[in-house]
Amino acid sequence: MKYYSTNRQSPPANLEDAVMKGLAGDRGLYMPERIPALDNAVIRSLKDKSFHEIADTVAQAFFGEDMEPDALTAIVQDALSFDTPVVQVHDGIYSLELFHGPTLAFKDVGARFMARMLGYFIRKKGIDREVNVLVATSGDTGSAVANGFLGIPHIRVFVLYPKGKVSPIQECQFTTLGQNITALEIHGTFDDCQALVKAAFADDDLNRRLQLTSANSINVVRFLPQSFYYFHAFAQLDRMGRAGNLTVCVPSGNFGNLTAGLFAQRMGLPVRHFIAANNRNDVFLEYLQTGIYTPRPSVATLANAMDVGNPSNFARILDLYGHDHAVVTQQVSGCRYTDEQIAATVYEVWRTHRYLLDPHGACGYQALTDRRLKPGETGLFLETAHPAKFKETVDRITGVPVEIPHKLQVFMQGKKQSVPLGKDFEGFKNFLSTVV
Ligand SMILES: *Cc1c(COP(=O)(O)O)cnc(C)c1O
Repeated sequence: MKYYSTNRQSPPANLEDAVMKGLAGDRGLYMPERIPALDNAVIRSLKDKSFHEIADTVAQAFFGEDMEPDALTAIVQDALSFDTPVVQVHDGIYSLELFHGPTLAFKDVGARFMARMLGYFIRKKGIDREVNVLVATSGDTGSAVANGFLGIPHIRVFVLYPKGKVSPIQECQFTTLGQNITALEIHGTFDDCQALVKAAFADDDLNRRLQLTSANSINVVRFLPQSFYYFHAFAQLDRMGRAGNLTVCVPSGNFGNLTAGLFAQRMGLPVRHFIAANNRNDVFLEYLQTGIYTPRPSVATLANAMDVGNPSNFARILDLYGHDHAVVTQQVSGCRYTDEQIAATVYEVWRTHRYLLDPHGACGYQALTDRRLKPGETGLFLETAHPAKFKETVDRITGVPVEIPHKLQVFMQGKKQSVPLGKDFEGFKNFLSTVV
């Protein structure tokens, strides 16, 4: 399979190059030139399959022709080696909790899958130099990527995060690991971190000297594995006889997760409609309403993993629907919630159902409530984070301290190590040049 750039100014790449580079030379995002379809019989048989089997079916359809099938199966198994997420229902609204991975983030699957794919291609190529993974994070991405890539030979990871703007638990998850993981504490905002990473990819001199790639959801093997979840959720709903008229709601930031859902639908998964749930960072909703896309600096909210003012996967969504605004709005609707609304939802769902949402999942839940589902329509939202990751926030809202899962407690015992840096590119470049 070849991968073309959404900007169409760079030549198509094979899978290996798309993975190694992350972003195309023309700054576009890679798209597979074909989206393989699963036939209806396969879709209908998913309900009798395990999560691992479902994921393997999807992965083979995308990547099977570009690598040994057995190696791919092993990567899938390894990427998903934790508790299988289970669909639940609260007051007629279905949820799939995607926080059973090692860092309790849905990004664990994509991060672990990407780390192993990168490792596979490095081995196959016979490595001559280290691959340097750069990742900007507002919290969750950094922890998932750092843990996913920990100890993988010939790969070094640099996590850039805004000083004082990630939760203490999240910070522990990527500053205490050591080995091939380096945390860079940037004196600036998340946008500054993202700008530094982008500047590094655009710097010819740096790219000549270092093999750089991105582990943000611009990388095809970071976002695509997230489609496994949608097939898995569908299989469970089908088993319950609830998959007939399905609306899926996705709390969104960079829109990698939602894009994976749109890919799943294009592969044949019968999802009737998608909703992108946003916080006050609502450039996507504005695009849906006006047809005009105006990226702007992000504003800080309670759901900080969705504080994105210029969602990178927007380019993929436009490409998928031929830049046709009418088609996009038919497939996806949007909504935005303020911090006050998020807090009210967390509180209300806790009070009435004793179900504790995190601030991101709260946007998803509320969007389905506001949609007023019709009889026979199933509404599913993805609960993207464990509430304990936003302990300060949810404790304040409910007045009851959330228990910290053992997996998270372990991280908090480690010793924090990070390198303080300014937000100027020269300083960052100098740092990379001296340590690599
Ligand atoms: C990353 C993240 C999101 C947003 O996902 P995108 O793929 O960037 O849209 C939502 N919620 C949580 C908890 C996240 O960590």
